[in-house]
Amino acid sequence: MQSERVRQIGFSPTLKVSGLAKRMAAEGRDVLDLSVGQPDFPSPQVVKEAGHRAIEENRTGYTPTVGIPELRAEITAKLHRENGVEYEMENIIVSPGAKATLYFLALTLFERGDEVIIPSPYWVTYPEQVRMAEAKPVFLPSREENGFRLTASELDAAITPQTKAVILNYPSNPTGACYTQKELADLAAVCRERDIWVVADEIYEKLVYDGLEFGTIAAVHPDMRERTIIVNGMSKAFSMTGWRLGWAAGPRDVISGMGKIQSHSTSNPTSISQWAGLEALRSAADDVAAMVKEFQVRRNLMVEGLRNLPGVTCALPAGAFYTFPNFSAYRGATAKRTRVESDQDLAMYLLEEAEVAVVPGEAFGSPFNLRISYAAPRKRLVEGLRRMEYALTKLGKEEA
Ligand code: PLP
Repeated sequence: MQSERVRQIGFSPTLKVSGLAKRMAAEGRDVLDLSVGQPDFPSPQVVKEAGHRAIEENRTGYTPTVGIPELRAEITAKLHRENGVEYEMENIIVSPGAKATLYFLALTLFERGDEVIIPSPYWVTYPEQVRMAEAKPVFLPSREENGFRLTASELDAAITPQTKAVILNYPSNPTGACYTQKELADLAAVCRERDIWVVADEIYEKLVYDGLEFGTIAAVHPDMRERTIIVNGMSKAFSMTGWRLGWAAGPRDVISGMGKIQSHSTSNPTSISQWAGLEALRSAADDVAAMVKEFQVRRNLMVEGLRNLPGVTCALPAGAFYTFPNFSAYRGATAKRTRVESDQDLAMYLLEEAEVAVVPGEAFGSPFNLRISYAAPRKRLVEGLRRMEYALTKLGKEEA
């Protein structure tokens, strides 16, 4: 009974793994879930209080579809202050989560016949949203040796007359890769020259390490603001995944198109979340800094631990809270009841044997990598590494 549009898309594979892990945990098994895509910290106290206040003050009715003016104004102030780009309130839309923001953007910008370049590894939702907009996702592999960063010449070579846009996600889910200002300027030069749009998913902007200065592609040239839509949100930086709040900044015409769709689908994002999000932008910087500090320690712990596993290589992620190690040395390995033919087999083996949940790289267009999140307490990460090492050493030593 499903329409053709729906038949060609699948359920989110990241949610599938964590669903299985949750089921095992419910059966009483001590599953270590490193498949998660959300910070393990509570939302900042100031955010919680702002949410309570909004309820007490009865700010619980509909709001303007595209978001309360106070929040949209604060977002323009943030973009000016932190990213060096100037927008008016009419350039901003607030949606129920960045996933929804991206979906409304896909429906606004893409149509049948368009090609949309998606560098791989990619976040699982991009291709499906492009397909739902009846456009064609074109995957462009970025090389592990280059830290999973797309180069300007690789982008240039992939553009055809049908190319409408490229989706850039930095820092990246799943690789954590981020671009320098110079790299962004080179990519921007190609986009200007070949006249394509840029969807810049900057939702992990605040989660960068080793003092890296985050910059947006919208700011690298005065023309870029007119062909870039910045997508961002509160979920990752402020640990507010459940509040469902995302936003976009871009040319008025695009934002107004997104607003039309939003007005006939979700309407405004939850009023309470918007007031809480406003407070997050205004006064949760210290909470974010504390979280980033902890994530950096965990990233180092995790990368070092993974690099010590036999046969495993691991690029150092510049941001986000994922590692994306390569396990191709285990292709064809065997253990008692398992033969590892794919990264899916390996992920299932680790779940069964080590009770560690990770996401197969295939889901992100990169077979034999695994996405391993470090959004878990240090003790659990150490335990996860120990369990994986034990399970991996058995591989190849036992007959299947
Ligand atoms: N973009 C990327 C790259 C993500 O990883 C996610 C969440 O996993 C989102 C967007 C959507 O975030 P949300 O809908 O929670 O704002």
